[in-house]
Amino acid sequence: MVERILVSACLVGRRVRYDGGAKAVGDEVVGRWRDEGRVVVFCPEVSGGLPVPRPAAEIVGGDGGDVLDGVARVLTEGGEDVSEHFVRGARLALDAAREAGVRVALLKESSPSCGSLRVYDGRFAGVRVPGHGVTTALLRRAGVRVFSEDQVSGAAECLRELEGSGVPR
Ligand code: SF4
Repeated sequence: MVERILVSACLVGRRVRYDGGAKAVGDEVVGRWRDEGRVVVFCPEVSGGLPVPRPAAEIVGGDGGDVLDGVARVLTEGGEDVSEHFVRGARLALDAAREAGVRVALLKESSPSCGSLRVYDGRFAGVRVPGHGVTTALLRRAGVRVFSEDQVSGAAECLRELEGSGVPR
């Protein structure tokens, strides 16, 4: 059975980002995954009930794991607490992953939902710090391996390993 992969909707060209744009990843490997029917496209923030466009948001007081644990919040620059939308989106992303039997994800780096190595530090000053977004945190807690758009080859290797290993879902 083909190993599927959850991919941030903005990385496949969907205009779902906060500014109404996309961040399509040009890597031909991602195009091949789509041709092979592996890609499960998902935007946690839109699924969590946020509009396009929407105010930029950053995690204040920690990273995505801390938001899940209720000790950090996702705030817009204007101070609106949108944590609930982010947590709902993360849960729906995990539901989608489970439904599709997904064990690997390729998510947009630095997003407060999808970041996997870095997130913005909550001061809206363009400063990134180590940490992961809310959806990435929840997926990782469930055992999904999350890569950024800069790690397409790592994600591809992971898919190959899982397909070759015969490890059941
Ligand atoms: Fe892209 Fe994720 Fe932001 Fe949606 S939540 S726009 S998929 S980075």
